[in-house]
Amino acid sequence: MTETKDTLLDWLRDAHAMEQQAEKMLGGFAKRLENYPELKARVEAHAVASTAQQRALEGCIERAGSSTSALKNLGGKVMGIGQSLSGVLVEDEVIKGVMSIYVFTHMEIASYRILSTAAEYLGDTATLTVCRQHLDQELAMASWLEDHLPAITGQFITRKASDSDAAKR
Ligand code: MG
Repeated sequence: MTETKDTLLDWLRDAHAMEQQAEKMLGGFAKRLENYPELKARVEAHAVASTAQQRALEGCIERAGSSTSALKNLGGKVMGIGQSLSGVLVEDEVIKGVMSIYVFTHMEIASYRILSTAAEYLGDTATLTVCRQHLDQELAMASWLEDHLPAITGQFITRKASDSDAAKR
C-alpha cells in the first residue's frame, strides 16, 4: 500500500508539472493571438484555470504528507508537447497552436482519468474529488475545441484566401 501511495504522489507531481507547462503554453499563445478574440478569451481562461489546478494539486500533495518544495520542474519537457508553440514563426500559427492545445488537453484528460482511478483505489476521497473536477474542466476544454475547430479553421482559410494578415494569429 505504501508503494502505491508513493506512486500516486509521483503522478500528482507529474500532473503539477504538466499544469505548469499548460499555464505557460496557454498564456503565451493567448498573448500572441490578435484576430481570434473568442479563442483568445477561452485560452486565457484555461490558463487561469491551470494556475488554480496547480494550487489544488499542491493541496493533494501536502495532504499525502509530502512537501511541495521539491516539486519537479520539467521546464516544458512534459512529453515534448507544446514546445512547438514557443516562438512560432509559421504562417498558420493559430492552427498550429490550437492543434498543440488540443493534443495537450487530451494528455491532461488521460492524466486525470489515471489519477482518479488511483485515488479511488487508495480511498483518497479528497484527491479523487480534485482530480475529477480537473477532469471535468479538461473535458469541457476539449469539447469547446471540438465545437470551435471548424469555425477557427474556416476563418483562417477565408482570411488566407484574401491575403489578409489577420489570418496568421
Ligand atoms: Mg489543466
